[in-house]
Amino acid sequence: MSKTIFYLPNDKKLKISFEVIELMFSYAQDSFAALESGGILIGRILESTSDYVIDVASTPMLKDIQARSSFKRDAEDHQEFFDKHWVLQEGRCFYLGEWHTHPEKVPRPSQIDVRGWKELLNAEIQDQMTLFFIIVGTQQLIVWHGCIVNCRIRITRLGHIRRNEIIY
Ligand SMILES: [Zn+2]
Repeated sequence: MSKTIFYLPNDKKLKISFEVIELMFSYAQDSFAALESGGILIGRILESTSDYVIDVASTPMLKDIQARSSFKRDAEDHQEFFDKHWVLQEGRCFYLGEWHTHPEKVPRPSQIDVRGWKELLNAEIQDQMTLFFIIVGTQQLIVWHGCIVNCRIRITRLGHIRRNEIIY
């Protein structure tokens, strides 16, 4: 399968667990009736290298608003999901970003997506200046890295993972 390790502009690395990749692709919008899905990304920042590892993702919750080409996450439900993991991991996990699906083969972020990502970066959740954004298309998912450098938001495309290269 294609690599699940991505290199950040600052030479740090991001690793996404196979389970999370599989989970996100399981929500790919294969049928015309399939609605957008999404959730938050949770993971670790390795002490030795400061590399990022995404190993947990939340999935659509009851109060989320899902449509064919929009997904609105209910903040409370996903926060609760995060809190549960935080307790389980004894505080050793971080909110690392967001993912959602698109009804297209190779996903492109909409203006609303980019605006939303910038808002999240501006919110400086957990005082963390780095977040990841994933959009899952029907053929591949794409990963972006967002950070604040010298008070300016920078969003960079890190790479993609092809669905047909995933071994089930
Ligand atoms: Zn979108």
